[in-house]
Amino acid sequence: MTTALLSEVYDAHCHLHLDARPEGQRAAGALLGALGGAALMSTAPTDWEAASALARARPGARCLFGIHPWRAHAYAGERGWLDALRARLLAAPGSAVGEIGLDRLWRPPGLAEVQYAAQRAVFVAQLDLAAELGVPVSVHCVRAQGDLQDLLRAAPRLPPAIYLHAFGGARGTVEQLTRARGYGERLYFGFAACVNLRAPKTREAIAAVPEGRLLVESDREAAEGAAGELTRMLEVYAEVRGWGGAAEAARRTARAARELYARADGGAKS
Ligand SMILES: [Zn+2]
Repeated sequence: MTTALLSEVYDAHCHLHLDARPEGQRAAGALLGALGGAALMSTAPTDWEAASALARARPGARCLFGIHPWRAHAYAGERGWLDALRARLLAAPGSAVGEIGLDRLWRPPGLAEVQYAAQRAVFVAQLDLAAELGVPVSVHCVRAQGDLQDLLRAAPRLPPAIYLHAFGGARGTVEQLTRARGYGERLYFGFAACVNLRAPKTREAIAAVPEGRLLVESDREAAEGAAGELTRMLEVYAEVRGWGGAAEAARRTARAARELYARADGGAKS
């Protein structure tokens, strides 16, 4: 990818703070400096500070604080983390809640079963905290689309924007979700080459996303290869949506990402 194109790209969901090798952090810093913008997703209290430090070092980067569904079982039994998360969010202007979600396929190492009840409890608490503070959320959802819809429908209050990252649903699900009363208009969708590109349904799902609500993401921990994957995804967007090319797709998706994350600036916490 050329430097000029890269400077137009907003990576709406990545984990570049997790590559702890010194050369990894150098590469992450360089990539964040070259991109037009990026949103760093933490995964648990143990990496909140690393994500925050990397985001603070780069003007175009935002930080999201949360507990990932793959880590939720370690926190579900206690409440201290929720107060710590609230304090983190209040202390970091422009931050939002992520990565949170539901994953019916993820069985934590060493455990015999998927810890879905724990995931659900931790997800609902974080969704409600984001609603309370008026900030967006970035959501991971694997094989739990129906449950997610039920939770969104039943929630007494919702975050201003809900980003469904590396979206794995079909075209019909995008249509159903975006038409849903109460939350359909708050939804944004992103796709990552490393997760979505092999699935045949991805192109149709991309085509169904409403104008202005399609974002691009790497979902990567390591910077190496991320720029190439973002470009590949943008080329697919351009093809599917009939846009002029990767540069136009970069501009359109970056505009949508900025609009989504700008809601973090206007929340009740600022
Ligand atoms: Zn992720």
